[in-house]
Amino acid sequence: MSERTPDESQRRSADAFEIASAALGSPEAAARAYQGPDAPEMIRAAANPGPKNLAMMGLQPDAYFPPPTDHGLPQNFWQSYGMAHRRVQPGGWTNQLNVSDFPISTDIAGVQMALTPGGIRELHWHVQDEWAIMLAGNARITILDGDGHMFIDDLAQNDLWYFPAGFPHSIQGLNPQGCEFLLVFDDGRFSEEDTTLVSDWLKHVPREVLAKNWGVPIDKIVPAMDSLPGGGKYIFQEPVPPSLEAARAAANRDRSPSSSQFTFRFKDLKPQREDRGGRVHIVDSTTFKVAKKIAMAHVTVHPGALRELHWHPKANEWQYYLGGKSRMTVFFNHSQARTANFQAGDVGFVPATFGHYVENTGNEDLIFLELFKSDVYQDVSLNDWLTHLPPDFVKQHLNISQEVLDAIPPGNYGTLPR
Ligand code: MN
Ligand code: MN
Repeated sequence: MSERTPDESQRRSADAFEIASAALGSPEAAARAYQGPDAPEMIRAAANPGPKNLAMMGLQPDAYFPPPTDHGLPQNFWQSYGMAHRRVQPGGWTNQLNVSDFPISTDIAGVQMALTPGGIRELHWHVQDEWAIMLAGNARITILDGDGHMFIDDLAQNDLWYFPAGFPHSIQGLNPQGCEFLLVFDDGRFSEEDTTLVSDWLKHVPREVLAKNWGVPIDKIVPAMDSLPGGGKYIFQEPVPPSLEAARAAANRDRSPSSSQFTFRFKDLKPQREDRGGRVHIVDSTTFKVAKKIAMAHVTVHPGALRELHWHPKANEWQYYLGGKSRMTVFFNHSQARTANFQAGDVGFVPATFGHYVENTGNEDLIFLELFKSDVYQDVSLNDWLTHLPPDFVKQHLNISQEVLDAIPPGNYGTLPR
């Protein structure tokens, strides 16, 4: 490295506003990022002439220039699949964010996975419950229920599935493009590296025991078991399977299919809340009976609108962002508040009972999932609460006028404006 020229040194110590603007992509972005009354002084104070990751800073403008209402340094509640290690092998790929990469989320872990047409996520099971949403393409799932009855279904974008702990299942990509999906588990310690794979298990059963179990001579199975890869197949490429009808007929040839419904057509659902600001679809065990441990709200917020100030009384919220741009401030009590920015592929987290909002800061619809380790979805709206108390009592707390109180939307609308 050569020494810096005087010109370069001068440039590096240039006006902080220019540096901030460069970090945030434009002077307008820098100005927007800090909106306190002392903005000129604060922008000067934020001089940052040293080394920096401009791309990353541009993704988190509200961390670089926090709103003046932020205070303290509560634990990080942002992560991104854009930075997660990807395991790629013939047939597809996977990446995961569990407690080792996202320590704040101790009770939910999330996995992205994609399968080519014909690509198979091996027959397996695990100790956690598995909830999923199709992000793209088409897939076929199989699951054996606790009474020994099989369930097989084909899924498209926005369809859900739910696999209770211990029930063996599989996923396969279909034509024309295969599939991508998000998996959510009811334990932050879940790892894709720690599921029970049928090929891994059977490779480690004494050959003579397996032969006895299947009622065949040992020499009929030794070559097959020896050929299985160490660690199991996990994801592998095969031809696209025959029709759903053919699969069901073969699987259910001598008994009835499962009476449980392990999939859910999310696209058929009417939003529970819809206003000018956006809409909210809620799917939990009241509508999707088998989903006993994971509840979901699918939230759409139009440009400039707000997922209103609220909290969740019982469960932590694990968020997955599907599209658009947003910021969220989480209030952690004793004056601690922290703001982070989110876009597609990012993950957020809000501890149970902690107040928060999500604001659409982009030019297109913000779409994200709120997921809870809970049988039912529940939230408390600040507005709904404040407008159902004696008015004087509320004014005594917040020093607001009757005019302000009268303007507050008198309900839990999910998104605002009404
Ligand atoms: Mn699984
Ligand atoms: Mn929430």
